[in-house]
Amino acid sequence: MNKFFFNTILLKGSNVSNHIRKNLTLQINELKKTYNITPKLSAILVGDNPASQLYIKSKEKAFKKMDCISETHNLPINTTESNLIELIKGLNNDNSVHGILVQLPLPKSLDSKKILHSISPEKDVDGFHPMNIGYLYQGEPKYVPCTPGGIIEILDFYDIPTERCHAVIVGRSNIVGKPMYGLLAQNLRKGNATVTMCHTGTKDLSYFTKQADLLIIAAGIPEFIKGDMISEGTHIIDVGINRVNDASEKKGYKIVGDVDFFDCFDKSASITPVPGGVGPMTITMLLSNTVTSAKNSI
Ligand code: NAD
Repeated sequence: MNKFFFNTILLKGSNVSNHIRKNLTLQINELKKTYNITPKLSAILVGDNPASQLYIKSKEKAFKKMDCISETHNLPINTTESNLIELIKGLNNDNSVHGILVQLPLPKSLDSKKILHSISPEKDVDGFHPMNIGYLYQGEPKYVPCTPGGIIEILDFYDIPTERCHAVIVGRSNIVGKPMYGLLAQNLRKGNATVTMCHTGTKDLSYFTKQADLLIIAAGIPEFIKGDMISEGTHIIDVGINRVNDASEKKGYKIVGDVDFFDCFDKSASITPVPGGVGPMTITMLLSNTVTSAKNSI
């Protein structure tokens, strides 16, 4: 008898995203009708990194589709730190702006931390300001970083249990791993789990991933997690977005996650596909944080 799961649930971020956007539409309409407020995001792009340009374009598109405003400040690569901070200060004081986003990575000549810290915590819709990280770790999250926030929504939508579970996170970045830890380890919605965080200093990664009821992987290594590294019935959230060469594809490449999807599928209780899993949630959560900020401005 095959002991593997046959009813693996595919955790589609697009379903969750549609559900959240429907609810956001009601809130946006109410803001417009009752308070004459249209949620507005001001994004700042320094230089001409093609991947960053693509991200900014998709954010603009998503905001437009939801009848919100997204403006982009395109700055040259040689922009000085003081000029950038001056621009941010102006946006901090502009009442028509509800969210400020600095597209990362910034050119090496600029101090990313100093620049992110100059964004008003009230308009920090990316949730990267130390004050917002502090609120999260005190159990009172205000603006949650978009990717981990989107993962909580996926877990909620598909009713994946977290309480009394062992969640294993692979990766400790400021944008995914660390805030994810804070959300799952505390007694918050879709939290109250026992959480282990693995990283490059972890000895014998499989020892931990095999113990996971919920495995969240954000390492940035294509198809890193194989079937023999997990136990049967694991819920898997694959955050990775990796471009790998593939001559059989028209574009010459394909996008894969950090999980070897086909190797892990039968063994997992549920799994996010890549693309189409966590990815669609990130911009939706940015919209959600911007709408929250607009509501807070009343
Ligand atoms: P990162 O690239 O900054 O760091 C990778 C993390 O993985 C580090 O903390 C490191 O300690 C850990 N790691 C690397 N090799 C490891 C190993 N062999 N064993 C254990 N841990 C190891 O992380 P990031 O910025 O969170 O990005 C991770 C992946 O997630 C990337 O593929 C990125 O493109 C993707 N990502 C996707 C979204 C989305 O919207 N879906 C958002 C953010 C990041």
